[in-house]
Amino acid sequence: MARADLTIDLGAIVANWRALARLSGKAEAAAVVKADAYGLGAARVAPALARAGARSFFVAEASEGARLRPHIGPAPAIFVFTGHMAGDAAALSEGRLIPLLNSREQVARHRDTLPGHPFGIQLDTGMNRLGIEEADWRELAPALLAEGPRLLMSHLACADAPDQAANAAQLAVFRRLTDATGVARSLAATGGILLGPDYHFDLTRPGVGLYGGAPFDGAEPVVRLALPVVQTREVAAGETVGYGNGWTAPAPARIATLAAGYADGLLRAMSHRARVFAGDAPCPLVGRVSMDLIGVDVSHLDTVPETLDILGPAQGVDRLALDAGTIGYEILTSLGPRYARHYEEAAG
Ligand SMILES: *Cc1c(COP(=O)(O)O)cnc(C)c1O
Repeated sequence: MARADLTIDLGAIVANWRALARLSGKAEAAAVVKADAYGLGAARVAPALARAGARSFFVAEASEGARLRPHIGPAPAIFVFTGHMAGDAAALSEGRLIPLLNSREQVARHRDTLPGHPFGIQLDTGMNRLGIEEADWRELAPALLAEGPRLLMSHLACADAPDQAANAAQLAVFRRLTDATGVARSLAATGGILLGPDYHFDLTRPGVGLYGGAPFDGAEPVVRLALPVVQTREVAAGETVGYGNGWTAPAPARIATLAAGYADGLLRAMSHRARVFAGDAPCPLVGRVSMDLIGVDVSHLDTVPETLDILGPAQGVDRLALDAGTIGYEILTSLGPRYARHYEEAAG
């Protein structure tokens, strides 16, 4: 086997969506499939979720929505977080996408270029990233509400930290801006769903939880990444491994060289820190992560398997992320194009 194998369990993604839909109570659960479904392949993930009953999808950009549309057919709604940017009109129109308008400029652009085309509104409630500010909303709201927006939404900055006062503060602002509008509302992503019913409104927007990531502890694992062993060698005490001679064997050791590196999303910050697994047995990375290769110490294994797992039952995306100083989201979206992707179909 030449390439590393990335196995994506669509059944687990569907099970995670169903679990998050249950946790969303009366609210509809959408599915966030931006960045190619967090690196796992929107062309496979979104249809599986649509078959399971998902009726609303979110992407970051109009171009992503336009590419998604043929895979899920005409019925599901596709919302675009970055709204209506210059040059987006054709993609929004052909993909029948619903931009979430973020500013006065976007509102004006939408009215000019796609009058009558559906839209939603993103409101800033304190994250200061995307969304119309309160003062602008006060002015724009009467006319915009008369045009029938499909959704009023905002996003929480600290939803993965339930104790943060910022959550309740953003909730209060969102209520102040949207109560009594009569329009469908959405505030919660994965973390917000777990904050409880006050945060659910009409529609929830889980992303990372679908793909097995924190803060959804109840997630079924979704990805397995098996790295092939290219060769093994015995090194004597005092010999070094990898670029910069970055690791020195303290004692005789057996080193396996595996076929994946930072070009595949095994971040260089994992050097000297991360582990791969032979079943349950951890094997530490030794030396620096190269572009296409890593070295691991397999001295303690009786036999060296043909592949070692860097993601799988023994190590999820969040555990690996710790060893790279990052978060599970970045591990997922860094999964490289060279991996051979295999999909396990969802049952039924
Ligand atoms: C990415 C994103 C989501 C999904 O967030 P998760 O934490 O992955 O569930 C929801 N809403 C907005 C605005 C986003 O940018």
